[in-house]
Amino acid sequence: MAKAPQMLVVPARDNPWDMALRQFNRAADLLPLKRGIRDFLGFPHRELTVHFPVQRDDGSVQVFTGYRVHHSSVLGPTKGGIRYAPQVDLDEVRALAMWMTWKCALMHLPYGGAKGGVAVDPLTLSRAELEHLTRRYTTEISVVIGPQRDIPAPDVGTNDQIMAWIMDTYSMHAGHSVPAVVTGKPVSIGGSAGRREATGRGVMITAREAARRWELPFARAHVVVQGFGNVGSVAAALLHDQGCRIIGVSDIYGGVVNPDGLDPRAVLRHVQDTGRVSGYRGGDAIGNDALLEQPCDMLVPAAIEGQITGANAPRVKARLIVEGANGPTTPDADEILNARGILVVPDILANAGGVIVSYFEWVQDLSSLFWSEDEINARLEPIMVGAFDRVAATAREREVDLRTAAMVNAVQRVADALMTRGIYP
Ligand code: NAD
Repeated sequence: MAKAPQMLVVPARDNPWDMALRQFNRAADLLPLKRGIRDFLGFPHRELTVHFPVQRDDGSVQVFTGYRVHHSSVLGPTKGGIRYAPQVDLDEVRALAMWMTWKCALMHLPYGGAKGGVAVDPLTLSRAELEHLTRRYTTEISVVIGPQRDIPAPDVGTNDQIMAWIMDTYSMHAGHSVPAVVTGKPVSIGGSAGRREATGRGVMITAREAARRWELPFARAHVVVQGFGNVGSVAAALLHDQGCRIIGVSDIYGGVVNPDGLDPRAVLRHVQDTGRVSGYRGGDAIGNDALLEQPCDMLVPAAIEGQITGANAPRVKARLIVEGANGPTTPDADEILNARGILVVPDILANAGGVIVSYFEWVQDLSSLFWSEDEINARLEPIMVGAFDRVAATAREREVDLRTAAMVNAVQRVADALMTRGIYP
């Protein structure tokens, strides 16, 4: 399997791009793909790196580095979030773009996969600096984004306000409003009802489906959630509403545990007041490493990639892992968890609720016709359950784990479309 040109140096074991390629190769080995087709799907199609200046509030100028990677546009315009985090680099963005391709394909959405990011800690910027950085980054990547071309969305470190600045900047250049250039916007400017909750809602739906099929605890399950941002906080609240007991949550600064259960909405109010989970009075402090190893029925990693590794997988005590985050489990960890009989609902299935409702938002923007939140949720549910059914059927037929089954479905769908379109010229 070919690697992208810059990847001649063998990446570290848990490098996200290396992880993505290992997962892809595992699925591709099970499919009758022509060599060239397989090679092409293993490369990111288009990669843009930008270095750009931002004026800080004190008048100094700082240069930032950003990326936008299109992994595949075979199934349609590319789709994928924008991440603001210090560790963002080309390999992370490549991996996240490839995972988006498989996620959209698995959900039968008419999209290819993309991702973007800026290497920055957004908490170190003032609101004005964040706006300047966003508007300049948007301008830099405007050559590759567009409502029919590539449609960004929120990811770690970005939110609906940042999506609003992206929409406004792109619209200023176009000379007219282009709401469909980005999803995850505020509802007041063409965002969709239910988008903010969509990823967490999808996590809840897939957790419920997994528990139902494999007769695992759900209604009274003890649940640990790592990462308490958009995905983690909503997943925790919706699982709590289903009767689950949320016994531990964390963010980048650390976590809290309480075997009797936490009220996720009270924790969220604490986070909104103080900026972090730690210090919440309803539980005991715990570090992220220990949190992942807490005895529980269900673990929802909802922070970043590479959290469950070959090193800590032997100590994970959950019976079910539902991946709210992208790439939280390394391939080494997958092997250990599979051998231990721990069921992993993979990211491209479990966290697809976000891109599904982003797709609804894009359709609504393009048609200037908006749906109610009930309608959004009613349309989301069958897409998630249908994809779960397909993955479970493939896992059964091929006797593989759910990640491999999901990947086999997704890669096959993209390969079929590529063969049908043909190789240009
Ligand atoms: P967010 O920025 O809203 O929240 C991220 C959370 O993770 C924060 O609580 C942060 O403190 C915590 N975190 C970051 N690094 C951490 C670390 N090293 N250890 C522990 N906690 C850490 O981001 P989000 O949108 O909730 O995204 C979380 C994950 O879900 C990411 O993997 C993202 O790619 C994935 N995802 C997001 C969406 C979406 O719609 N936002 C959709 C699909 C997948």
